Amino acid sequence: DSLGHAVGDELLRAVAGRLVGMAPRRDMVARLGGDEFVMLLPLSQTGMGEGDGEVAEAESTRIQEAFTRPFNAADHELYVMPSIGISISPDDGRDPPTLLKNAEIAMYRAKEQGGARFRRFTQAMNDDVTRRLAIEKSIRKGLENDEFVVFYQPRVDITTGQVTGMEALVRWARPDGTLVPPLEFIPVAEDTGLVVALGERVLRDACIQTRRWTDELGPLRIAVNISARQFQPDLLDRVQAALAESGLPPSQLELEITETTMMRDLPTSVAILERLAEQGISIAIDDFGTGHSSLYYLKNFPIDTIKIDRSFVRDVPGDEGDATIVSTIVTMGRNLSLNVVAEGVETDDQLDFLRAHGCREVQGYYYSKPLPADGFADWMRA
Ligand code: C2E
Ligand code: CA
Ligand code: CA
Ligand code: CA
Repeated sequence: DSLGHAVGDELLRAVAGRLVGMAPRRDMVARLGGDEFVMLLPLSQTGMGEGDGEVAEAESTRIQEAFTRPFNAADHELYVMPSIGISISPDDGRDPPTLLKNAEIAMYRAKEQGGARFRRFTQAMNDDVTRRLAIEKSIRKGLENDEFVVFYQPRVDITTGQVTGMEALVRWARPDGTLVPPLEFIPVAEDTGLVVALGERVLRDACIQTRRWTDELGPLRIAVNISARQFQPDLLDRVQAALAESGLPPSQLELEITETTMMRDLPTSVAILERLAEQGISIAIDDFGTGHSSLYYLKNFPIDTIKIDRSFVRDVPGDEGDATIVSTIVTMGRNLSLNVVAEGVETDDQLDFLRAHGCREVQGYYYSKPLPADGFADWMRA
């Protein structure tokens, strides 16, 4: 995309040429659209289907080897990493539309795993697609019926014992009374783009609730998770709308962004972060240590807070490696004048360790699980 259409077209022609060169017959290669191609291969001579899987895999390997050589298009040397999906008749479909659909499902699966890969279609992949479609449909309905509720988990300054704020964590209250945890629907919401509407709802509700609490409970800071799909230039408008509607001062809002989200497109990320910072909104790096932790961005981006991922906190002080990682992150964060928050603190031993190593803020079941709004207010008053 970044090379422009001229190069794109020339590259696609070159790719098509190389595929045609490898196909048993010219008319057995077709372009499906975009950068997707189909190649048809005659497999078992016997018609018994024996060894078809092996033949298809050998062909896929042959194609991928041919693609390790670069392409020349518009004076550029370009590399193409093909993701290949395989479907074999009659096991994976008896008619061309089914075979194509299933090959495409397998291709997306290969692509999800990144790099140049091939995958053969399995019925389980199909079930997964069906399951995701069903979840997508019920998320849409859930949004219409206001089934998503925000829970709040306190963040505590362990040097003073004061609650400094809370994190907004979404839950799905299904009509049947079950409360679905985010990991069961956020990934699907992310894939389908529904997370943008969902995230906007969470942001708005959390800002309104925090503003309401301010008079009684003090100027708490609300931290809201922002998914990769939401982290786009139009996030600024949405955040401003939520602040305007709720009357919450920007200084009481923090946005939590993971390292992976931030590293996707650095120049855009910096631009978004700088504009948020200009508005007086704080930025936290979520799940710190699990992605591409980079000293460069900690030093150069307007970041206020790092949240040490629960996976490092879980086994301190017992696990020496984790203990070293946690104390190193705390020291580094302090030296860079960042707030450091340890996530997932459950025990006295963890708390003592964190205190001894100068970590100021913690969040975790030790103090409280995420609570519904009423429960959180009661907990604060108690
Ligand atoms: P996260 O942002 O890392 O949130 C922290 C998770 O750790 C929460 O899980 C929280 O309930 C859990 N947790 C906190 N303290 C403890 C503890 O002491 N022990 C244990 N075992 N767990 C603890 P939750 O609420 O299930 O959320 C999971 C993830 O879903 C979040 O991870 C976040 O990535 C995502 N998520 C939640 N709400 C939203 C949202 O509104 N928008 C987006 N985009 N993602 C969300
Ligand atoms: Ca593509
Ligand atoms: Ca978070
Ligand atoms: Ca986290």
